[in-house]
Amino acid sequence: MTIDFDMSKFLFCQPIDRRHPQPPRRWGPAAIGAALLIALFAAACSRETPPRQPGTPLKITATTGMVADTVSRIAGARGEVRGLMGAGVDPHLYKPTRDDLESLTRADVIFYSGLLLEGKMADTLSRVGRTKPVFAVTERIDASKLLRDEENPDHPDPHVWMDASLWALAAEVVGQSLAQVDPDGSSHYLALAREVMQECLELHEYGKAIMSTVPESRRVLISSHDAFGYFGRAYGLEVLGVQGISTESEAGLRRINELIDTIVSRDIGAVFVETSVPRKSVEALIEGARARGAKVSIGGTLFSDAMGPADTYEGTYIGMLDHNLTTVARALGGDAPERGWRGLLASPVAVQPRPSEDGAP
Ligand SMILES: [Zn+2]
Repeated sequence: MTIDFDMSKFLFCQPIDRRHPQPPRRWGPAAIGAALLIALFAAACSRETPPRQPGTPLKITATTGMVADTVSRIAGARGEVRGLMGAGVDPHLYKPTRDDLESLTRADVIFYSGLLLEGKMADTLSRVGRTKPVFAVTERIDASKLLRDEENPDHPDPHVWMDASLWALAAEVVGQSLAQVDPDGSSHYLALAREVMQECLELHEYGKAIMSTVPESRRVLISSHDAFGYFGRAYGLEVLGVQGISTESEAGLRRINELIDTIVSRDIGAVFVETSVPRKSVEALIEGARARGAKVSIGGTLFSDAMGPADTYEGTYIGMLDHNLTTVARALGGDAPERGWRGLLASPVAVQPRPSEDGAP
């Protein structure tokens, strides 16, 4: 694989999108708390960071679980990775804690996802980028491959990890960035990065293959989060979101009825929930569709912005995407192995019994 790497992009760490300045803040208690944190952080930064001893692992801090897992695999024994956001944490809303600031201050190098995913960490990452290398792993994804964020059309949709072929590019950035920061380990990082990229591309092929076994009219992913745009595009599914709809407004009711029409007319067998979003709106949808004779049920819980528990297969990037791909394919009537790509899923993914098949109305 050829690697042409524009160093200049990374030498001057400008990770933050400056096109969207923050509105002026009022000095409420939250702002004062933030100012205190900033002051603490500035004090921590001004302390001399002792130079790294030769032979000791690189101290690496990463934001989301997907970034931390990918960096950790590519750093191998040459790095010690600390991830800031654990299972179930929403990166859009995450604000760094005092411990996080300490970890960022001590790190030799920092990786974050980027594309404005970590919106509340922008100032902190920008500040820390003045004194040490800070890399956005999504930085090299060509703008033509990015989707727009539906709610903020000026912004790219940041959920690129849902397409394993795009995440392979993130792995490439990680390998090259580590090689730049620690040139002695360059061949080690680049070799491990190639391994991770290869694995991402193989998982991508698996995803496309199993999804192509879902009957064409049923290739629709109805879920409660807006994180699945890239997933749908990569694996050939139309994505319809339930998030934000309310049974109390006319627009909400209209949207629910539209979705029910789709479920009924296209014979969609499953609707999906996501760990951090209430099931209520999805359940209302299922109830409405069943009342009109649809055979639909909840197809499973998908990972969106965070991975499964630490030290499980689903707590790795590959495992979480394998879970999503296998769950969706099986629930929509496709043909996929019950324990996923390489038989590593913690429990077999059930094929959803369709109500007519298990005797329910
Ligand atoms: Zn999200």
